[in-house]
Amino acid sequence: MPAPDSLHRLPSVASLLETGEVKAALSRHPRAVVVGALRRLLDSCRKGAAGARGSREEWTALVLSRLDAEIAAGEAMPLRRVINATGVVVHTNLGRAPLAREALEAVLEAARGYSNLEYDLDAGRRSKRLVHVERMLLDATGAEAVHVVNNNAAAVFLCLAVLARGREVIVSRGELVEIGGSFRIPDIMAASGAVLVEVGTTNRTRPADYERAITDRTALLLKVHRSNFAVVGFTEEASARELSAIGAARSIPVVEDLGSGALFDFARAKIPGEPTVRQALAEGPAIVTVSGDKLLGGPQAGIIAGKAALVEPLRKHPLSRALRVDKLCLAALAATLRLYGDERRAAQAVPVLRMLLADAAEVRARAVRLVRRVRRAGTPLRLSVEEGVSSPGGGAMPGVEIPTACVAAVHPAIPPERLEARLRRGSPPVVGRVSRGTLRLDMRTVADDEVPDLAAALAAAASPEGD
Ligand SMILES: *Cc1c(COP(=O)(O)O)cnc(C)c1O
Repeated sequence: MPAPDSLHRLPSVASLLETGEVKAALSRHPRAVVVGALRRLLDSCRKGAAGARGSREEWTALVLSRLDAEIAAGEAMPLRRVINATGVVVHTNLGRAPLAREALEAVLEAARGYSNLEYDLDAGRRSKRLVHVERMLLDATGAEAVHVVNNNAAAVFLCLAVLARGREVIVSRGELVEIGGSFRIPDIMAASGAVLVEVGTTNRTRPADYERAITDRTALLLKVHRSNFAVVGFTEEASARELSAIGAARSIPVVEDLGSGALFDFARAKIPGEPTVRQALAEGPAIVTVSGDKLLGGPQAGIIAGKAALVEPLRKHPLSRALRVDKLCLAALAATLRLYGDERRAAQAVPVLRMLLADAAEVRARAVRLVRRVRRAGTPLRLSVEEGVSSPGGGAMPGVEIPTACVAAVHPAIPPERLEARLRRGSPPVVGRVSRGTLRLDMRTVADDEVPDLAAALAAAASPEGD
C-alpha cells in the first residue's frame, strides 16, 4: 500500500482534465469514457495496485501513462470469441455448444426485425411460442408431450416445484450430485419445496431401497444422471426401467434428469455411454429432462419430454412464465432441431456432433496444417503432432475418452506456463493446456476455419514482445 500521506497528493479528475494528454484523449473518445478511465486509474492507485509514488507530478505521470490502455480495455467487448484448444467439446466455462451455421442465421433473422414468435400468420391471431419447436421435439424424442424452459436446472426445478411441492421425492444417495458450480440436487430440491428422501448408499442403491421408502406422501421417484463422475468398483444402482416398474405399481411417476440429452445415437458411432432421449423414455420414466446446449448441440435450454398428463401441468404453471425461453433461443433451437430431421446432415452440420464424431486422422490432418502454418511464420517454437485423448465434457459421458491429435509447442526461452498465459491473453484468446511440462493444443475442438487465427496467435505468443 502507498503511504497515506502520499495518497493526499493524488491528482483530482478535474486537474487531470486540464492536461494536454487528457484533452487529446477527449478529442478521440466521449467524455464519459475518458472520465470513467481516469476514475478507475485513480482508484487502482488508491488501492496500491500501482505501487507507491511520491509527488503529485509522479502520480499524474503514472495515470497519464496508463490512460490509453485503460480506455482501450474499457471499450473492448467483454464477451469474446475464444479458440478452444482444450479438446473438451462441451466446455461449460467456454460457452458449451457452438451453434450450427443454420442456427446462427435463424437467430439473426429472428432478431433483426419482428417475427411470428407468438402469432399465427394463417389465422391472424395470437399463438404460443413453443409451437416452433414442439413438433420437431415430439418427432425427435417420441414423447407424448414436451416443454421447453431456460435450462435443464430450471426443468428439474419446475418438475419438483409443480409435481412435488410439500411432498416427498425419493433419490439415491449415489445421485445427490453437484453439477457445475451451483446445481446441487439437495439445494434445488429444497428451493422447490419438495422434501428429499435419501435412499441407499453412495455406491449401492437397490430397487428395494426405493420400495421401502415409498409412503403416501411420496410424489416422485427421481433419477439423476451422474454427469461429471463415474462410480466404479463395488456398485449397484436401480435402472430407470426398474424404478419405472416400481413407480407404475404404486402410481408414482419417475422423473429422470438425463443431463446431456443426446438426440443422436453415439453408440452407433462407437462412443458409448449416453442413451438418446428416445431410448431413455423407452425405459419407462414419465418425464426426462435434458439440456439444449450439451450433446444436443443447440442453444441453452431445458427440454422436458414425457407423458402428457404430467407435462401439461408444467406448461400451464405460472413458474413456466418465469422460466420461459426467449425468441433467440427458440430460433436457434428450431434451426438445430431441423438439422436432426436427417441424421447424417446433423452429424456434419451440428458442431458438437461434428467434433465428437471426427476421427483421429481428420484431427491429425488439422494439427499438421497448424504446424505448417506456424513454421511458415518463422518462429523459434519447436512443434510436434502427438496423440492424445479428448473428453466430451459438459457432464456428458463421464470417463469416455476419444483418441485425438494435439500440437505440442516448446519455446527455447519461454516457459510453457508463460506461453499458455500469452495465448490466453492474446487476440483472439486461445485456451490450451500445459501437461507434463509442455503446452498442448488439442485440435479436436478447433474448427478448420480457426486454424489461421490459431497459427497467428501462436506466432504472436512466441515472439520476443509477446507479453
Ligand atoms: C448439466 C446438467 C444439469 C444442468 O443443466 P443446465 O442446462 O446447465 O441447467 C442438470 N442435471 C444434470 C444431470 C446435468 O448433467
